[in-house]
Amino acid sequence: MELDCWGRVRDQLPSIIGDDAFQNWIKPLDLLKVVDGVASFSSPTSFIGTWVNRNYGDKIALMMTQEGVPVDRLHFKAEVLVKAEEKPSSKAAIPAKQNPVPTGSGDLLGSPLDKRYTFDDFIVGKPNELAHAAARRVAKGGPVTFNPLFLYGGVGLGKTHLMHAIAWEIQERNPKARVLYLSAEQFMYRFVQALRFKDTMSFKEIFRSVDVLMVDDVQFIAGKNSTQDEFFHTFNALIDQNKQIIISADRAPGEIDGLEDRIKSRLQWGLVVDLHPTDYELRLGILQSKADTQLKNYPDVKLSDGVLEFLAHRISNNVRVLEGALTRLFAFASLVGREITLDVVQESLADILRASDRKVTIDEIIRKVADHYNLRMTDLLSPRRARSVARPRQVAMFLAKKLTSKSLPEIGRSFGGRDHTTVMHGVKRIEELCSVDNQIAEDVELLRRMLEA
Ligand code: ADP
Ligand code: MG
Repeated sequence: MELDCWGRVRDQLPSIIGDDAFQNWIKPLDLLKVVDGVASFSSPTSFIGTWVNRNYGDKIALMMTQEGVPVDRLHFKAEVLVKAEEKPSSKAAIPAKQNPVPTGSGDLLGSPLDKRYTFDDFIVGKPNELAHAAARRVAKGGPVTFNPLFLYGGVGLGKTHLMHAIAWEIQERNPKARVLYLSAEQFMYRFVQALRFKDTMSFKEIFRSVDVLMVDDVQFIAGKNSTQDEFFHTFNALIDQNKQIIISADRAPGEIDGLEDRIKSRLQWGLVVDLHPTDYELRLGILQSKADTQLKNYPDVKLSDGVLEFLAHRISNNVRVLEGALTRLFAFASLVGREITLDVVQESLADILRASDRKVTIDEIIRKVADHYNLRMTDLLSPRRARSVARPRQVAMFLAKKLTSKSLPEIGRSFGGRDHTTVMHGVKRIEELCSVDNQIAEDVELLRRMLEA
């Protein structure tokens, strides 16, 4: 009864708090019992319990009550007691079923590592190949060459995935290695707690006794001065001992406002690599790999040709959004028992498609096409019919039709007041030519990529 209730609440949580938060915080919890309105959970570390209680406690209590089990308070019992002195014996206390596994030797209080974030599951393309190569090198161990390794890039480009992959591999190669992975937010939280409980000694001890320290999203501590200080000291102490440090952020060290200069410069000592926004090929590769997995989960679902290509064209850089779209598609198709066609995509992903509309403008298209063919923009808008102008103009109309949501008459107006039938003819012509004329097909593809980049 209580377990069922918790099961229903759990199922709803990812859509409320997000998949990442769910994986990190909720998934590791087990409901033990509910007595007198107190729901007791076991949690891999006390930190997770405290965090969940503080951030999601009220929400979870309310949801459980709504699902039929009155709860007004949550209580968490840590499975592993965390004290630096207890290291050797605490290992035995880690329950085997723990999943996901907390980082390092379990006593280090890192964030849980996601099982899916391995090198095997990371698709490599031009935009991330350097970051991937650097991550692999660091994961291989051996003499510390880049220290720190600083990975940066926009949201959803794979920073966290690469960090977890490094942690998994280092642990696999050397199970004794003390690898500590945590977000900068948690670093701060732990530090503040240590201050509060006047226990900064053991905080320092834990952080300075690791072999590998990974701090994710370090931009978070910008402006938080005492945390920065502590981070800086920890960082220096580890570097001095030649311990590997891996840091991620959403931008380059020099661009993080509110980060002290000495930290900025220290972060740049090692190797700084960025993850570029995904390109079409990488998105398609990722989609193909994730679709294979989905097809295994939903053996009854069929996927039409062209769907993945469409998604790779239309959905933004953010891989997380791409994954979310695919998950939703498969769930939808399986539920209604339909093949995943372009229609189904439009139907079930309308919001995502709208949100990630690239908003390429017709002006931009005209400018890029003119550039590409060495013409002036006004040539494309002029009445001139010479082939050297008319063909590029048709290419531009074609791209306007494919890459914007403008109607044929609107496109006609933007091209010097042409009729919609002229636009339609142009679009058709380029479509035909693309299949017989390699040069045109290449031009179109190149322009499309430049405009969508
Ligand atoms: P970031 O930390 O940069 O915001 P994440 O590492 O959390 O991004 O990645 C977001 C999601 O996209 C994760 O589920 C991750 O597995 C997936 N992802 C990102 N890049 C790739 C890639 N190259 N191959 C496979 N999955 C990827
Ligand atoms: Mg991340």
